[in-house]
Amino acid sequence: SGGVCAEVRRPRRFLVLINPQSGKGQAQALFNTHVQHMLQEADITYTLQITERQNHARELVREADLSQWDAVVIMSGDGLLFEVVNGLMEREDWEKAIQMPLGVLPGGSGNALAASIHYYSGSQSVSGEELLVSCGFMLCKGLVSHMDLTSVCMASSPRLFSFLSLAWGFVADVDIESEKYRHVGAARFTMGTLVRLASLRVYKGKLAYLPAEESQSTPSQAQSTVSFTDGSNSSSVHSHMSRNLNCQNHLLHNSCNSNNAHKPNWTGESPVTTRGPTDSLLVPLDQPVPAHWTVVKEEDFVLVMAVYQSHLAEDLIAAPASRLKDGIIHLIYVKAGISRRALLRLFLAMEKGAHLSTNCPFVVYVKVRALRLEPFSPKGTITVDGEVVEYGPVQAQIYGSLARIIAG
Ligand code: ADP
Ligand code: MG
Repeated sequence: SGGVCAEVRRPRRFLVLINPQSGKGQAQALFNTHVQHMLQEADITYTLQITERQNHARELVREADLSQWDAVVIMSGDGLLFEVVNGLMEREDWEKAIQMPLGVLPGGSGNALAASIHYYSGSQSVSGEELLVSCGFMLCKGLVSHMDLTSVCMASSPRLFSFLSLAWGFVADVDIESEKYRHVGAARFTMGTLVRLASLRVYKGKLAYLPAEESQSTPSQAQSTVSFTDGSNSSSVHSHMSRNLNCQNHLLHNSCNSNNAHKPNWTGESPVTTRGPTDSLLVPLDQPVPAHWTVVKEEDFVLVMAVYQSHLAEDLIAAPASRLKDGIIHLIYVKAGISRRALLRLFLAMEKGAHLSTNCPFVVYVKVRALRLEPFSPKGTITVDGEVVEYGPVQAQIYGSLARIIAG
């Protein structure tokens, strides 16, 4: 293929997974009303599986003979896709399995990926059932694109793969606290934000990252404590980074490992039981971050969010510049000291994706390839794709175009 249109046949045999508990509990009814007939008219056949419990979908895609289907579609929120992505990456044949085209139908209360895909299509912003219909049409058209995934490592849990976000502080707390408002649908995040604003607090910790662009100059970088005590110089940093940029779209074939550029990017010899590519940008969590990383001077935050798609919720455009496969982690953090009123203004601006151009001095936005976060307080919440994960030190690196998704 010339690379312009690799997909000759559109996917026509779907596995459709529905989480009956997602959103207001109407996912199955919404599917029947809005999507079923569309798929029939598009000559798409499907196996319908209603999930019975958490991790049902994850186990199913981990064990199933995937050759029966051309796509795995979820009708739920982001949580069910998180299960599917991780189930695929837990397979022995993960490298082939993660090529399975995925599809999203917004049936949950947090439908960030569905909203992102609709946004990338350039269509006018919609929500609720209109977003569902738009996503249904995209499935019928069947245009398959690549999508970035991020690998997320914690101190003692198995590595996870994430398609949307890593959050700590205000955003993570709202995400989890607002689950009790799931019955109001997508408005749960607005309600949660207002409630959390009343008990606004500071989150202490250490943040470091590998910038995506060498020439990038940000306030935090200017204050960065990075020094090249190992004798390396800016030109070795340069070559390291251009190698990272070059291999971004060829991760499955080339290595990003600066120690040995010809070593395969993943190995079977690794003592680690988790499957998937080797995180060549990361060093173990008990070692300091590499010298060429940027260490953020501030240690008092209101929120830290690393997002790889545009939306954080149907009406929250956290990273308006993000694209499906830009190979970039859009890191946004808010420093402590921001007033409640300014934070509220920020979230209101985020509904249009305008929060990054408000020149609020407490907000920092930087494009990165990898990051590490080390919270200081012994208790707290970290979320990955809106799901709670192990609390404690966490680090992540992006894999450009590792997955595939049906998008418009
Ligand atoms: P929402 O956007 O409403 O939160 P999600 O798709 O995120 O919807 O699902 C919420 C949670 O429910 C996720 O953690 C998911 O793993 C879990 N889940 C999936 N299927 C079921 C089920 N049948 N019963 C209960 N929980 C489920
Ligand atoms: Mg959810």
